[in-house]
Amino acid sequence: MTIQGAQTSAPKAKKRPRELAVINQAGCTGCEVCIEFCPVDCILTVPGTEYDQYKKLVEIDLDICIGCKLCVKYCPWETIEMIPGGDAYGVAQSWTVRSVLPEAEWIRDSGIEVAEEGPLPLPGTKVP
Ligand code: SF4
Ligand code: SF4
Repeated sequence: MTIQGAQTSAPKAKKRPRELAVINQAGCTGCEVCIEFCPVDCILTVPGTEYDQYKKLVEIDLDICIGCKLCVKYCPWETIEMIPGGDAYGVAQSWTVRSVLPEAEWIRDSGIEVAEEGPLPLPGTKVP
């Protein structure tokens, strides 16, 4: 007997985007324009290596990115690229200097420096 409306097969794995946005931190000025446009808030502010918020960077949490390309369109410094999903993590490993995602699988064991301070507050956030 089939119960009406019952799930008859295993749920499908969540579909991932065909391409993901990857930041080349070498060209990032920390201007935060991309953060304003990301609809899923997956762009994080990374303290810079020398002067924290004055030389900050940003990085994308690739596990959350939906591949909408808005950040690529609006980055004034053209330092974000859409990379095919299968290659994005490897490319991000070579383009990321500093990260605030120590739990992400692609950061662990990559040799990428993890900022001890954690992410800087997002634009418009009041610091206590
Ligand atoms: S592609 Fe879209 S979802 Fe992904 S980081 Fe850029 S703005 Fe955010
Ligand atoms: S818009 Fe471009 S330069 Fe500005 S913070 Fe984002 S990635 Fe860096």
